[in-house]
Amino acid sequence: MGSTLIHGATVLSVDAEDRSFEGGFVAVRDGRISAVGPRADRPDPSGFDEVLDLTGHLVMPGLVNAHTHSAMVLFRGRSEGQSLLTMDGWYNSIREPELSLVAADIGPAVALSCAEMALSGTTTFCDQYFFAAEIAAAVKQAGLRAVIAYGIVQLGDEARGADELARATDFLEQQRSADGRIIPWFGPHAPYVDNTEALLKAEVEVAKTHGAGLHLHMAAGPEDNEETLRRYGRTAAVALEAAGFFSGRVHAAHCLELSSEDIAVFARAPAASVAYSASAGLRSGREGICPAVDLRAARVTVAIGTDNVAANNSYDMVAEMRVAGLVASHREGRAQPLSSRDLIRMATIDGAKALGLDHEIGSLEPGKAADIAAFDFRGPGYSETPDPETLLIYSGSGRDLRHLWVAGEQLVRDRVLMRRPYANIRSAYSATYAGFWERVADARQSKEKEVA
Ligand SMILES: [Zn+2]
Repeated sequence: MGSTLIHGATVLSVDAEDRSFEGGFVAVRDGRISAVGPRADRPDPSGFDEVLDLTGHLVMPGLVNAHTHSAMVLFRGRSEGQSLLTMDGWYNSIREPELSLVAADIGPAVALSCAEMALSGTTTFCDQYFFAAEIAAAVKQAGLRAVIAYGIVQLGDEARGADELARATDFLEQQRSADGRIIPWFGPHAPYVDNTEALLKAEVEVAKTHGAGLHLHMAAGPEDNEETLRRYGRTAAVALEAAGFFSGRVHAAHCLELSSEDIAVFARAPAASVAYSASAGLRSGREGICPAVDLRAARVTVAIGTDNVAANNSYDMVAEMRVAGLVASHREGRAQPLSSRDLIRMATIDGAKALGLDHEIGSLEPGKAADIAAFDFRGPGYSETPDPETLLIYSGSGRDLRHLWVAGEQLVRDRVLMRRPYANIRSAYSATYAGFWERVADARQSKEKEVA
């Protein structure tokens, strides 16, 4: 695969000591980081196939988007004025048109999402949706790394639940890619709302057997806790713990309303984490805000995710870090309880931990996969500061991403996608988008006729 020496940049290692190097270097050999360090230790450039002087750039681990639904780019701007964190809002703006989705829509939609993520610094994401095999195929083509959680929705139908579990198990067995970039998981959509306890227990067992995790929505809307409080007198987190759900790896999105008892459930679980999706939470108008500061104080891993782009409209993780930081200040009633360094960790190494990938990605350290993002700090907004993390988060943008590597393969070079031209991805997407919404309109029309 060859070797690359990146030097001259501000390098954020995001290692355990949070070391950064002004004018530092990163050396990559055969897809892995071979060395990272200060200018003084830079190896001889003649020993590398490629040498990149990135003076005026920030070089850091690729961003980890810890919660999204990449196919839902088809719904971008289609749920304005609706809360997607309530059953009603979700049903009216998403679920009804979603019934017109076909497998062929997924590839072009996921390809566009992957392009947007790569072009704004994301190298890994955690996805949950139907059509998991089609998602995996599109991610493979894009070259990104992704946890893909097979969305299991039972909706009170026992036979459907059993059938979905069998399909999801096939997915776990077939999709784990040899290069490690595709990591199949399960994704019970929202426990108790659409999965029975018996099904959840079966999911936990199968996931454990296959070394997979479970990605779900939790305490996102009032329906979640209401249902379990009514049935068991317990919140969703406490009820799920009692059912054995927290005995394996669990990654829960949103968590807007967690009690101190709920936080304790996460803290004592062996591998539980939260995807803090601040933009989607704020946009929903719900009063609750994910208690990211309390969770971190209880040593729970808190990662950052954009959620789907109908609830956010952007995959820009730099913007998402900014919102996550601002919302935490507002919630805690003090200035920046999450520092810029904290936010960078949450969007890199903590995302990697949440997905069980921190041995492989999330920081720039020798031996890890070379998943690297380089942001161009030479343009407007990036003036001198002692704090490059703050410069990126509060003055910068994901659109200043210039180069991106996954496992040492350069996927973005000079803001251009290397595997497939963006224009090509975009035109395939536009055709799919038009066809999909035409089918939705047809379905609505025939329904109206039926009623009449
Ligand atoms: Zn979601």
